[in-house]
Amino acid sequence: MQHDKNVTATVGHLIDGQIVHEHGRSQPVFNPATGASSTSVELASPALVERAIASAEQAFAAWRETPPLKRARVMMKLKQLLEQHADEIAQLITAEHGKVLADAHGELQRGIENIEYASYAPELLKGEHSRNAGPGIDSWAEHQALGVVAGITPFNFPAMVPLWMWPMAVVCGNCFILKPSERDPSSALRIAQLALEAGLPPGVLNVVNGDKAAVDALLRDPRVKAVSFVGSTPIAEAIYAEGCKHGKRVQALGGAKNHAVVMPDADIQNAVSAMMGAAYGSCGERCMAVPLIVAVGNETADRMIAGLKTEIAKMKVGPGSDNGNDMGPLVTRQHFEKVKAYVDSGVAEGARLLVDGRGLKVKGHEEGYFLGPCLFDEVRPGMKIYQEEIFGPVLGIVRAHSLAEAMQLINDHEYGNGTCIFTRDGEAARHFTDHIQVGMVGVNVPLPVPVAYHSFGGWKRSLFGDLHAYGPDAVRFYTKRKTITQRWPSAGVREGAVFSFPSHH
Ligand code: NAD
Repeated sequence: MQHDKNVTATVGHLIDGQIVHEHGRSQPVFNPATGASSTSVELASPALVERAIASAEQAFAAWRETPPLKRARVMMKLKQLLEQHADEIAQLITAEHGKVLADAHGELQRGIENIEYASYAPELLKGEHSRNAGPGIDSWAEHQALGVVAGITPFNFPAMVPLWMWPMAVVCGNCFILKPSERDPSSALRIAQLALEAGLPPGVLNVVNGDKAAVDALLRDPRVKAVSFVGSTPIAEAIYAEGCKHGKRVQALGGAKNHAVVMPDADIQNAVSAMMGAAYGSCGERCMAVPLIVAVGNETADRMIAGLKTEIAKMKVGPGSDNGNDMGPLVTRQHFEKVKAYVDSGVAEGARLLVDGRGLKVKGHEEGYFLGPCLFDEVRPGMKIYQEEIFGPVLGIVRAHSLAEAMQLINDHEYGNGTCIFTRDGEAARHFTDHIQVGMVGVNVPLPVPVAYHSFGGWKRSLFGDLHAYGPDAVRFYTKRKTITQRWPSAGVREGAVFSFPSHH
């Protein structure tokens, strides 16, 4: 096994503070704007994963004893380093994911906000205390670290989603193993190197790159106490089942099909602008993207369509590295083919394709995975493009007669990640937020992604497990509660044996 200081053309792993290359299996990483492979990523063997777990376990003994304030100071330093290296990290994201640079900066910023929250660790870990829970008896509850915990992350937010997980896990005293997406692994690895520079001791955060083989090794190893997963629903469900079978604590966030309800009284121009970003931002590759509009009333639908067509005509699609572009390519050729096939199926199933992005050619980037924005009208439940997550720049309009009908559609859908309503009617909005079966809800806010000091998670088949990601729920997920009851009997108040259950009358 060979150790390098810098990641070169082959993306390796970070174990015990060192970049490690295994020279075993690997796969190419593509630049989606050119279709060329800029680098390759190593796919860890189970033996390498075990080495990472051993490193984390060894680091845990000292890290768990490190005062939370000292752990938090590493986060404060890391925030500074990430701000200094923001351009470099955004470029890594864009080169492997394809999203436009401004969007890559946005994802990094949201990640940094999770680091800011993690730096409140001493406050978050204070626990609960009751003096005189009984005569001369004090009782308190504390949050103790679990030990070695792991995170498995998706391609679509290669920097941000890992930052949802490991900063909170490590400030709570755990040691972490991150398995990033093999499609765009470089930014997460670079951020982990900066965490070392910020003072995180070797072994507290290890990164293993890889595929199912690495994930299976993490799921089966009894030394890994908890697993956070973010990705597609079938994999989330399988990971939840397998992790639970092996006695682990698991939170597994899955896919989505988010609907926006547009009411007849909505500010249509605002709804159109909001929907442009929500549907086509990051090429629709966001779990909080909004690929469906439920327009209440035909006139609402027609006005939305007219506005959307005008805005779509102005959109610039091209390489994400060019700041003038609004939308970059899809992540891989395979994903491009899959999204295109969804558009074909929508046409075959009878939805009306009003804007067809399938023929788009970007000059000088003919091998890139570019699909132009697509807009469907007359999408109906039962169609594949209604039921399934497309994860591409495909927006569909569903026509409904009433708010009740729109809400029924949303509540009947298998996913329940995000939703929103556009309206000027407070009563309708309150009824919607109260009764909709979805985890994150916006009112005139198309992407209601909770800020770092709240927690993120969907309902129904968008999340398997009990606790949401980051924010206050992360403290609960990455710690176990211990409640201690203490008495120091003094000679004067010593009691004899008591056989009844202690209580207060
Ligand atoms: P994915 O499920 O293909 O992969 C996610 C992770 O799981 C990757 O690290 C991958 O290597 C690993 N993986 C893939 N197949 C596996 C298998 N058979 N066994 C074990 N591990 C496996 O997801 P993706 O395509 O990278 O990401 C897009 C998906 O993620 C979308 O469905 C999107 O909605 C979802 N997502 C959800 C959220 C959320 O918060 N709910 C956030 C971002 C993305």
